Amino acid sequence: VMNGSSAVHWFRKGLRLHDNPALLDAVKNPATRYVLPVFCLDPVFLQPELVGVNRIQFLLECLQDLDRQLRQRRSRLFVLRGDPLEQFPAFFRRYKTTLLTYEFDTEPYAKHRDERVRQLCTDLGIDVRTRATHTLYDPELVRCKLGERPTPLTYKSFYSFVTGTLGRPPASMPAPTTADDDIHTPDIELDAYKVPTLAELRAYDGLSVTTSFRGGETEALAIMERFLTERQADVRAFSKPQTSPTAWPKASTTQLSPYFKFGCLSPRLFIERVQELHPLEEPPVSLIGQIWWREFFTYVAYVTPNFHQMRGNRICRQISWREDRDDPLYRAWEEARTGYPWIDACMTQLRKEGWLHHLARHAVACFLTRGDLWVSWERGRETFDRLLVDADYSLNSANWLWLSCSAFFHQYYRVYSPIGFPQKYDPNGDFVRHFLPVLREMPAKYIYTPWEAPLAVQRKAHCIIGEDYPSPIVDHATASRENMERMRKAVSESGPQRPPKRKRDDTGAS
Ligand code: FAD
Repeated sequence: VMNGSSAVHWFRKGLRLHDNPALLDAVKNPATRYVLPVFCLDPVFLQPELVGVNRIQFLLECLQDLDRQLRQRRSRLFVLRGDPLEQFPAFFRRYKTTLLTYEFDTEPYAKHRDERVRQLCTDLGIDVRTRATHTLYDPELVRCKLGERPTPLTYKSFYSFVTGTLGRPPASMPAPTTADDDIHTPDIELDAYKVPTLAELRAYDGLSVTTSFRGGETEALAIMERFLTERQADVRAFSKPQTSPTAWPKASTTQLSPYFKFGCLSPRLFIERVQELHPLEEPPVSLIGQIWWREFFTYVAYVTPNFHQMRGNRICRQISWREDRDDPLYRAWEEARTGYPWIDACMTQLRKEGWLHHLARHAVACFLTRGDLWVSWERGRETFDRLLVDADYSLNSANWLWLSCSAFFHQYYRVYSPIGFPQKYDPNGDFVRHFLPVLREMPAKYIYTPWEAPLAVQRKAHCIIGEDYPSPIVDHATASRENMERMRKAVSESGPQRPPKRKRDDTGAS
């Protein structure tokens, strides 16, 4: 029997104990005796056709890791299954909750959900306290500082405005200690709230996990430390455009994106650690510069309604793309059947690992949209959203807007060649051979253009083009020339993009 009230900390993203001030608010709250760390498995996110199995498994591992770490502190994670709005009332009543804490979230779905949960709490007389720790700075604070000024739509202007007005980001906070008296959690043996296995989530039962990424804060911290200490030369010389998209399985970048996505790693802690070890990092191409891309795109997505689509998105160039979800060109791209080995190898890596190097994302995004297929970036965004372990509403949309020349980037005449581009990094085609074993024996000379191999060569390589591996679905030279002309027209018709005026009610936040 509980004699005393409780504070509930609601994990959503921010799946970590370090640098989690909202969790500390619950733990240190003098008016409540108990703390209940909660995660709610919302059915909205449990649909394999929207959220791929690799990401769900990664999430479950994050939850297991949290539970393990909380148990070391004599607490545990309570996993509720269902819509938080339906689950919370009974849970709050049962545990006499008087305080709810959580990390502030900028995404439209989360904003809407959180407003309703806030209302519920008001109705039940529960205090709500939130902290903005998904990014370096509180996006609401940036918005207030901007006042009536237009949203900065370049990295540079955003970076100089934020550092100029807000100075350095707040320091990261330590995790709650393991001292016995720190966290009092009731009912820690109750089975009803345990972290489920994949098989226990009915929609995912039987689907196989193929990614090599393992979820959790413990893993995130270990990867960060390994990268920063064992690859010092890579960190110091880190220049994003120079990193290789074909390096695999030892990638040329940190591969921390799935951990940042779920908040297993705090961006503040990350930049502090980078600065401790390598004090001279300057954006935008440096490692810290990458975190600023995340910061910039998360902010613009926060203040731009309909950011994930073309219609109703005021920063997006309006273009008549091919939009049909059954379009054979789109399907071939998604299913790695374009006949361009570089593109198909990348799409296979995406499906299998749920991750691609940034320049590989560039290549497949350019190919799908303005480069070769003229398919809407929204279709590509959807595919990425389902298959990436690091899929993030803001970053995914922003980068698709960029690559399709719909916003941020306008040099439409710069198109990636699916042949010449990978050749620079990987002349032998090891990356292609790894992800497309059907081409394993193709001579290096034809690895990116197997359709040009004489039939005798194809036979010897045990790969007949058109039978064992598809012929190209478009001719790159012709398609990219035609599309560049369409793009040129679209750009000249829409004129130079001016930063739009900001409106008060842009985000729905007060
Ligand atoms: P590192 O180079 O080690 O960078 C460290 C961190 O900085 C990353 O983990 C990420 O959090 C951030 N970062 C790096 N590049 C970018 C960028 N261009 N924009 C925003 N943040 C960045 N990233 C996602 O996390 N989720 C997505 O859904 C996503 N979709 C993308 C879609 C397209 C079409 C493109 C071109 C890029 C997308 N990116 C996305 C950005 C970028 O490709 C990945 O963040 C990066 O490749 C992840 O690898 P890493 O962790 O090794 O990166």
